[in-house]
Amino acid sequence: MKDMYQRLAHTRLGHSIFSALKMPIPPQLDRQQTEAVFFKGNLVLGAAPQAELLPALCHTIARKPHILTYNIGDIIGASDIKKATKRYKIPLIPYQSNQADPVQFKAMVFDASGIHTTQDFHYLFDFFQPLIKKLAMNGRVLLLARTPHTCTPAQATAQTALIGFIRSLAKEVGKQGATVQLIQADYGVELPLLEGPIRFLLSPKSAYISGQVIHISAAQQTVFPHNAKPLRGKHALVTGAARGVGAAIARTLAKAGAQVICLDLPDTVENLSAIAEEIAGEPLLLDITAPRAAQQIVDMLRELSCDIDILVHNAGITRDKTLANMTKPQWNATVSVNLTACEQITHALLEHQLIASGGRVICIASVSGIAGNFGQTNYATSKAGLLGFVTAMTPLLQSQNITINAIAPGFIETEMTQQLPTFVKEIGRRFNSLKQSGLPIDVAEAVTFLAEPSSAGLQGNVLRVCGQNLLGA
Ligand code: NAD
Repeated sequence: MKDMYQRLAHTRLGHSIFSALKMPIPPQLDRQQTEAVFFKGNLVLGAAPQAELLPALCHTIARKPHILTYNIGDIIGASDIKKATKRYKIPLIPYQSNQADPVQFKAMVFDASGIHTTQDFHYLFDFFQPLIKKLAMNGRVLLLARTPHTCTPAQATAQTALIGFIRSLAKEVGKQGATVQLIQADYGVELPLLEGPIRFLLSPKSAYISGQVIHISAAQQTVFPHNAKPLRGKHALVTGAARGVGAAIARTLAKAGAQVICLDLPDTVENLSAIAEEIAGEPLLLDITAPRAAQQIVDMLRELSCDIDILVHNAGITRDKTLANMTKPQWNATVSVNLTACEQITHALLEHQLIASGGRVICIASVSGIAGNFGQTNYATSKAGLLGFVTAMTPLLQSQNITINAIAPGFIETEMTQQLPTFVKEIGRRFNSLKQSGLPIDVAEAVTFLAEPSSAGLQGNVLRVCGQNLLGA
């Protein structure tokens, strides 16, 4: 899959022509990471007074010699920062915001949990305004905050306003491959539940995610310290695993230690067997819309005597036409694969108690399901329905100690998007803050993040992997 525009923009000649014509030059995203080093470089810390979430951040970055932590000497909130960093033995390097030197920051983390009223907003401005020009290429801005519906009305107003801040800043820094996100933690959430999301959002694994809000709620599940194979001993089922996003998900889950059952249509036998063999997984040739599909999955799991810890509803199809030109089979096929089959399989596994306690259900939706899209009434209906399924199932699954979340990809380079007309492809690739398309690995990393034990506090979230696509919010 090729994005010729992006390749050309990074040749010497292409770069000069694009610059002369003032055409956007997509930044080169850094997706490289070793398991041990999730973040490397200068990190500057800020906080509003009475910040409460700094210990979660400090716990995550403690004992990491490749992270140099700076603080702004004269800013309000400095005493909270000093206290939290001292507790975790993190050495602080003092910095003056307007310092004229070449220091650049790979991450700027601001604990905004102490913003209680709109009069407190100036802390945000005072911290970021003088600093933002010092954000490095592929930098990360992360705000830690409170979930508005767990706050008093005045605080809820102020905490909600942060969403506008991060989404706008994300649009301003996207041209340098930098991302901006917000973590909202409910009151009462144990702080170790923030560690997995902080790691993920600071790491190159979230390179194509920007302008997102991740909501953390209380969990009954135990949070284990992070390790190189966080999914060791877990069983995963990935639908649509023969190619594209599904194949990347199967590979990434296996790399994190999971045993993966790779499901796809019977006519994908060659690809599917090759992928299953490559990751020492199990192939399952099945049309998920077949009348007995859910029962066949149940039978296979019984035969293998295994429960599923991670269920990924990834198989999906498009049958794009305007409604006026759409046939009933095009409508029906899209809804059955993308939505009805996901409901039926989930319910069958639950009914037979084949989703393990501590399990994860992850649904691959789409930004089209959020914003709607021309020629996709069928597809957007199915994907919006999938988001509705996630919301509806959250409390039910929570009571069984299982989480369910959705990922909404934007334009990802796969065979599905290759079929689109060239003009539509170009729009999809360029109309986002990072000015480029995503890769299957971007969605796969997000799925693996949601599947990890450290993501136990994420329930009912919709995580967009879209480079802050301009479709919808
Ligand atoms: P793809 O067409 O490359 O792969 C989809 C896979 O699903 C194929 O291997 C196909 O054989 C399988 N599949 C289709 N119908 C099936 C059925 N009835 N039973 C079993 N398997 C079936 O698509 P992709 O781009 O990898 O998309 C993966 C998921 O991501 C889909 O749900 C898609 O809607 C979603 N998505 C993709 C994009 C994108 O830009 N590529 C954007 C948003 C959402």
